[in-house]
Amino acid sequence: MPPRRKTRQVNVGGVPIGGDAPVALQTMTAGYTYEIDKCIAEIQKLARAGADLVRVAVPDKVDTEALKHIIPASPVPIVADVHFHFQRALEAIEAGVHKIRLNPGNIQDRAQVNRVIAACKERGIPIRVGVNEGGIVERKDKDQRAAEKATLARDYRANLIKLMLDKLDEYLRIFDENNFHDVVISAKSIDPLLVIDVYTAISAKYDYPLHLGVTHAGPPETGRIRSISALGTLLANGIGDTIRISYAADPVHEVEDGKELLCCLGLRRRTEPELIACPTCGRIEVDLFKLVTDVRHKLATEIDIPVKVAVMGCVVNGPGECEGADVAIFAGKGKGIIYVQGEQRRTVPENQMLDALLGECREFAERVKRGEAQLKGGDVEIKPPDPLPRKHGGVALPVVGK
Ligand code: SF4
Repeated sequence: MPPRRKTRQVNVGGVPIGGDAPVALQTMTAGYTYEIDKCIAEIQKLARAGADLVRVAVPDKVDTEALKHIIPASPVPIVADVHFHFQRALEAIEAGVHKIRLNPGNIQDRAQVNRVIAACKERGIPIRVGVNEGGIVERKDKDQRAAEKATLARDYRANLIKLMLDKLDEYLRIFDENNFHDVVISAKSIDPLLVIDVYTAISAKYDYPLHLGVTHAGPPETGRIRSISALGTLLANGIGDTIRISYAADPVHEVEDGKELLCCLGLRRRTEPELIACPTCGRIEVDLFKLVTDVRHKLATEIDIPVKVAVMGCVVNGPGECEGADVAIFAGKGKGIIYVQGEQRRTVPENQMLDALLGECREFAERVKRGEAQLKGGDVEIKPPDPLPRKHGGVALPVVGK
């Protein structure tokens, strides 16, 4: 993977963004900010799931009033999402918010934007400047809006990228003129290819940290691939300093998927169990899908260290497919063989596979915590039992309980 692109660093309430800081994971609350207790509970849930920052909408004064109670109770820095009303930004800053998300294009006049910048500068609060697809077409000036829409209609993708870059230039000039450089840039779109192209172009032109996202991606079922294809490509090319995956669903799914993406790309250290499972094929002889689902739920609730667990449908290809697993089970003919760090432990009947596997995982995790075993981090060699001839080929499983 290419090295991370070097950017300036900003500080969001103690969480560094850009420079050599880890890619920060953020999300946004779905509830009303003015419902203080619910908002705090949602932020706490998102932080527990792994969010480094949480953004809240502040459309009304009652929301910025609530920030005074929410910010001290939050375990992570809070970003205020401001649209249209510069006063909300000033109130949020006064309440102690750690970052402002602001689109200068939808604030009525330049003097108001300058006041927000001055307030942020005084308190060392960064501002995210967005040129997202949904808000890029000029809203203030009817004629300009009509002209921009007509240009976009001619070659939507190419012209949208150009428009986003032009707007960004225009907005950043405002920050330059105010000698304000604690800026984070976002340029989201619903189109993953456009997201890749526009962030790549921005990254070549500016050294401000980048907030990556695919906007309005839909529910996780349809939005997941859309988001991960764009964000994964950019991150794998060293572009991106903070990410938000946006779903039309409980934002905890945004955090879970964002965390998994960062772990898969080696940009975040895994802290929870990792599950490897085979896709199954014509060799399968147990109900593997149910076993995998049950193991996943149990691991998530019962094991709190990054044990690598493999659930495989057979001993023919399973061992090779899950080299590196700390605890593994290979199923077949109504039985399963369990391995712990490459050592064959026992063979159990199908109806005991879940409990036996979980028991080994728990015991192994306890041994790791006591310092009696180590997570091998991919360095586990699993040797399958000697193959014995069977009518249709394959491997005979050892006798149950051996
Ligand atoms: S582990 Fe066995 S059952 Fe699973 S996909 Fe591979 S060969 Fe098929």
